[in-house]
Amino acid sequence: WDLLVETDPLVAGLIQKELKRQQDHLELIASENFTSAAVLAAQGSVLTNKYAEGLPGKRYYGGCEFVDEVEQLAIDRAKQLFGAAHANVQPHSGAQANMAVFLTLLEPGDTFMGMDLSHGGHLTHGSPVNVSGKWFKACHYGVNRDTEQLDFDEIREVALHHRPKLIICGYSAYPRVIDFEKFRAIADEVGAYLLADIAHIAGLVATGHHPSPIPYCDVVTTTTHKTLRGPRGGLILTRDADLGKKLDKSVFPGTQGGPLEHVIAGKAVAFGEALQPSFSTYSGQVIQNAKAMAAQLQARGLKLVSNGTDNHLMLVDLRSIGMTGKVADQLVSGVRITANKNTVPFDPESPFVTSGLRLGSPAMTTRGMGTAEFTEIANIISDRLLHPEDESVAQTCRDRIAALCSRFPLYPHLSAPVPA
Ligand code: PLP
Repeated sequence: WDLLVETDPLVAGLIQKELKRQQDHLELIASENFTSAAVLAAQGSVLTNKYAEGLPGKRYYGGCEFVDEVEQLAIDRAKQLFGAAHANVQPHSGAQANMAVFLTLLEPGDTFMGMDLSHGGHLTHGSPVNVSGKWFKACHYGVNRDTEQLDFDEIREVALHHRPKLIICGYSAYPRVIDFEKFRAIADEVGAYLLADIAHIAGLVATGHHPSPIPYCDVVTTTTHKTLRGPRGGLILTRDADLGKKLDKSVFPGTQGGPLEHVIAGKAVAFGEALQPSFSTYSGQVIQNAKAMAAQLQARGLKLVSNGTDNHLMLVDLRSIGMTGKVADQLVSGVRITANKNTVPFDPESPFVTSGLRLGSPAMTTRGMGTAEFTEIANIISDRLLHPEDESVAQTCRDRIAALCSRFPLYPHLSAPVPA
């Protein structure tokens, strides 16, 4: 750090500002988390210098003996963590992991099925602006209009109608448990492969706080930086070692070049952390905290999509208070809460405006907050959204957030100021 300050004070100063932003805000973006200092150290290491195209023991470059061991550790820990027969730890991101699955299981023009983006699916599940929607024929299922939850009769009907070659389950904004077994039955009926994209819930799955897709799905993809609390990256898992070899080829040389071994080292560290009992305690707390926040938001009169949550996230349906997601996002940002506007199912607003606010508990749970603090957070959000014009309420919200942030410090060892 001292060297960075000396060499490039401009960049160092910006990093310091970002650190302070993270320290001073309530981070409620459901897809974000704070990695451990150990993960940060692994990522900021000399491994960034190494080219290692190929796989451990089968590289196209010399000098890979140590990165081989690092990558093998990451693979072995990922397999142990999720009970998978095969793991590829090289995808640079969740989108890259999904791309490798498409390349393995589909031909351009094939039909596949995923959840509609506006109901909680991801861009890579067939959005027309993503390669998944441009090069393949995507058909979509949504949630039930009344329950706002997965409706397996409807999903089966869409599948029988379109006969997709691949079905994707797993989402970016779905607050309920996913029944992978029911998806398997539908996939078998139409002869489709089944992919679970557990990017959001991976940490909950790894610790048994959400059922595992491994016994039911042909392939499982995930990001490593959300509930799993690792470095920013992707991971592919499968119970079938032969399919795993094909997936390996689709990652490299199919869709990527050299793996980011410094990130893979961070993944190895994070998987090691996730195998510890303390991570299971953390994951359980993530859910308890989300439930406490959801209950208090509802007690204050705010409507939640599907009326609650089973996992780490919830969606506030702001139509009940006549507000848009865009306005709500601006209001909470103004009191140092970081969240994101999000479509709700059957949203009448555009994706730039939306009617929802997505909130998640992983990051502030990492800072050590429990249900009492998440109840207070729900009260702060409610006060802000229910009194949008009241500047004195806004100021009180800011004070309460400052008090919470100072009680639960983040990365105190990184806080040395950059000289002006
Ligand atoms: N899949 C799901 C369900 C996601 O929520 C996300 C990210 O939000 C991704 C894939 C893509 O991950 P990345 O941003 O690492 O490409």
